[in-house]
Amino acid sequence: MKNYLKQFAAWVTGLKRNVFEVARLRLTLFYVLTIGVIIAVFSVVVYYSLVQNLRDNFDGEFTEGQVQSQERIIARTADDLKKNIIVIDVIVLLTVGAFGYILSGKTLRSIKHILDAQKEFSANASHELRTPLAIIKTSTEVTLRSLRPSTENYKVALMSNLEEVERMSNIVENLLTLSRSEQLSTTKGVKLIDMARLATVVLAKMQDMAKAKHITLKLEKAETASVYGDRESLERVLFNLVHNAIKYTPDRGTVAVALRTEKGQVKLSIKDTGIGISEKDLPHIFKRFYKADSSESSQGAGLGLAIVEETVHLHRGTIEVTSILGRGTNTTVTLPFAS
Ligand code: ATP
Ligand code: MG
Repeated sequence: MKNYLKQFAAWVTGLKRNVFEVARLRLTLFYVLTIGVIIAVFSVVVYYSLVQNLRDNFDGEFTEGQVQSQERIIARTADDLKKNIIVIDVIVLLTVGAFGYILSGKTLRSIKHILDAQKEFSANASHELRTPLAIIKTSTEVTLRSLRPSTENYKVALMSNLEEVERMSNIVENLLTLSRSEQLSTTKGVKLIDMARLATVVLAKMQDMAKAKHITLKLEKAETASVYGDRESLERVLFNLVHNAIKYTPDRGTVAVALRTEKGQVKLSIKDTGIGISEKDLPHIFKRFYKADSSESSQGAGLGLAIVEETVHLHRGTIEVTSILGRGTNTTVTLPFAS
């Protein structure tokens, strides 16, 4: 007995901590109570009207003895009816309870998935911001603790801090973009975008980044192609993809961008001669915060491609990545052509 009590107490304590199970039980209770009230009212009405009906059927001239036996019949029938109604009500309520429990589980599960995803997202975001903060803290502390820090020491510490602050603002900017991307289709005005012009502008802005690694960044082909969309978001798609191509390509490599129109679609491809992506990593690269193991990826937060994929889908397009480890990566974005 003691054991059972202990088990019950443990179950209740566990339950209190399990918000999902508590909400599920509450919702089930709500279903049972609502149906319970309805069938209680219904049963009372049925019971009294049937008993009254029975009484009305015995109406007429009867002897004292006949009346007494009629009353006995009515009382017995009413008693049986009451028992039957109660049994049926209990069965209905138990069935409602069981179905309600299953149904509320299904309803709440999708909400639980969203909550879990949000929790994971916050944990990942905090983790990504914690690393640069720790680096800033350590470099500042070390500089302040050194007995006679030179101007050079200060400069090195400040430069390292600036780098980390830039990294943090990049992460925060990406996080904001992701949280805003769901509103893109409704809040921003969709315009006709000349993709060839957009590619020329973005690539011109990124030449310095490529030059720093002696990488040849070229626009191989730029057919006239327009799409309906948001300029800033499409610019970010191209920027993130070319940025990855440069980042994951060793010095003196090549990054080639091409724009083609094909069967009513605009195809934007970015091809690099970089480190490539393994088969193991390829299916996961669009997940938020996913980074393949490499020295180059340690700098980023793993948000760039998640933003790209969400934006492309919002523009009713698709994205495909093919890659050979050690040889290079080819990314193709397909968007509906605006004629
Ligand atoms: P962020 O873009 O947030 O600064 P990131 O570049 O690491 O960080 P994503 O752009 O989302 O994140 O890319 C996810 C992962 O996919 C990268 O960490 C990298 O391992 C891999 N990856 C993406 N593009 C390439 C590429 N062109 N070549 C090789 N690996 C790539
Ligand atoms: Mg990236």
